[in-house]
Amino acid sequence: MSKTLLLTFLSLTTLSFAKTEYTGEKYLGKDIITNLDVNDLESGKTYEFFFEGVENSLGNPWYIPVTVIKGEKEGKRFLISSGIHGNELNPILTTYKVKERLNPKDIKGTVTIIHGLNIPGLLNNHRGYTFGGNSENTVDLNRLMNSGKTTTSDQKYSTLLWNNLLSKNADRVIDLHTSGKGSQFPLFVYADFRNSDIKKMAELTGADIVKMDNGEKGTIETSFVDLGIPSITFELGSGETQEALIVERATNGVINNLIFWDNLSGKEVKPDIETFYGNSWSRIRAEKGGFVEAKVKVKDKVKKDDILFVQYDAFGKVIKEYKSPNSGVVASVKDYPYSEPGDSLGRVIEYDKEDKDQKLN
Ligand SMILES: [Zn+2]
Repeated sequence: MSKTLLLTFLSLTTLSFAKTEYTGEKYLGKDIITNLDVNDLESGKTYEFFFEGVENSLGNPWYIPVTVIKGEKEGKRFLISSGIHGNELNPILTTYKVKERLNPKDIKGTVTIIHGLNIPGLLNNHRGYTFGGNSENTVDLNRLMNSGKTTTSDQKYSTLLWNNLLSKNADRVIDLHTSGKGSQFPLFVYADFRNSDIKKMAELTGADIVKMDNGEKGTIETSFVDLGIPSITFELGSGETQEALIVERATNGVINNLIFWDNLSGKEVKPDIETFYGNSWSRIRAEKGGFVEAKVKVKDKVKKDDILFVQYDAFGKVIKEYKSPNSGVVASVKDYPYSEPGDSLGRVIEYDKEDKDQKLN
């Protein structure tokens, strides 16, 4: 191949990767896309697409609803994602509430909102990617981002999401979540405070608790941070339910970020909340089987050796008291009372001054 031909070939390949690609078909009246590049969309419009994921065991593709609001003015690209865990529902409602408050006239740059990433998980109320047929396995898609793996359907799905929908469309990212099944959580943020922009993003959420940490490989948050793109994981209360106050506060936290980072005109809503910043937590696990009664609620301040949980035998006799291993704030509480040895009952978060990486200031 001649040099000119090679260059032409390379630029064509690059171009084809950098374009929003339409299948030419519609689903429920919306354009179906297989690749998103918000840069080549016309300004001053709101777009509603179905992004085509891998096909399921019936041979039909999963379709992921994506809104792109492209402002009339130039600016950065903000990405809000939700539902990578399929039983986390406050985040889906929050994406609708955020969208209601956005109009291309008031937007600079682009706001991309994904209303639920893990479609098979959402349909089955499972945290993980849920396979068809007779498989009972599920896989956590939020450990598979940027893995490059494409053998199994969960791997193909996550690689497609990362390569063709998420990774090229963001200068800042908020990934919305909730606690796992059967556990209460406040408004909570995971953020890597080694980056000052990420610290600011966390502050703007108005969360009850922020955990400063180095992130976890394969998550949406950490995969973006590794690319140098500021990103946080924003946990919106409990799973498998909807909580109006949490959704309203989360919506304000996202809107505050859009305003501060100059994607949206308006004034930030300063929440009347004192955020607790921690970097270390302890998990309390059941040591016996039986009914567990919580003696604390999330956000309670506790001291070392305060009683957090008591456990009963089958006749109602107290067989175990679980004490706080440290002084701090209660970050999560199991709300399904029957427990077996090893079950997580809750977590207490504190600020450890000796932490080498994650510090306040
Ligand atoms: Zn989650």
